[in-house]
Amino acid sequence: MYFNHYTNRPVDLAVHLVNTCQADGDQIAEADDLNQLLEGYRDLWEGVAQPPKASELKAIHQLRDSLRTVMVSPDDATAAGHVNAILSDYGAVPRVSMHNGEPHLHFEPVNGTMTSWLGTTTAMGLAAVIVEDGVGRFGACNASDCDDVFVDTSRNRSRLNCSTTCSTREAVAAHRKRKDKAKAKGK
Ligand SMILES: [Zn+2]
Ligand SMILES: [Zn+2]
Repeated sequence: MYFNHYTNRPVDLAVHLVNTCQADGDQIAEADDLNQLLEGYRDLWEGVAQPPKASELKAIHQLRDSLRTVMVSPDDATAAGHVNAILSDYGAVPRVSMHNGEPHLHFEPVNGTMTSWLGTTTAMGLAAVIVEDGVGRFGACNASDCDDVFVDTSRNRSRLNCSTTCSTREAVAAHRKRKDKAKAKGK
């Protein structure tokens, strides 16, 4: 990847954010939940963005949807279009920042809100993956009751599930299905 600081952790943050939207509930339904999530990434935003305001929650839910759209794009051109729209919508302005003493790239507007920081940072993380490896690096879980996204770091991009929990559950279900079929045939 091309830039320190804006590589894996912003991508982790994007994945983390997208996967807060669960069938059984929104894990960042309340401002407190969002604060807690962002606390784990404080080293990335401290000094360059304001802590989130409760009024930003809705915008961040929208951003979450947009990030998912990028990650499930069918091809690179579509993903590029979506990611460019986020960068433009959230006011990305590339610059060299010295806030931690070392020159490195930042993309959020100066004195920006948490929303603008989050939008530009996560979108640049995804953009870096797309530029480097293509949108095929992203995946959405194959399990019937799971929509979680992931970054497929397997060599042949063969990963089907977001986690070992889901792949184990899928394997058990497939095994049971085969067994049931065999039983039905035996009758
Ligand atoms: Zn920085
Ligand atoms: Zn899953």
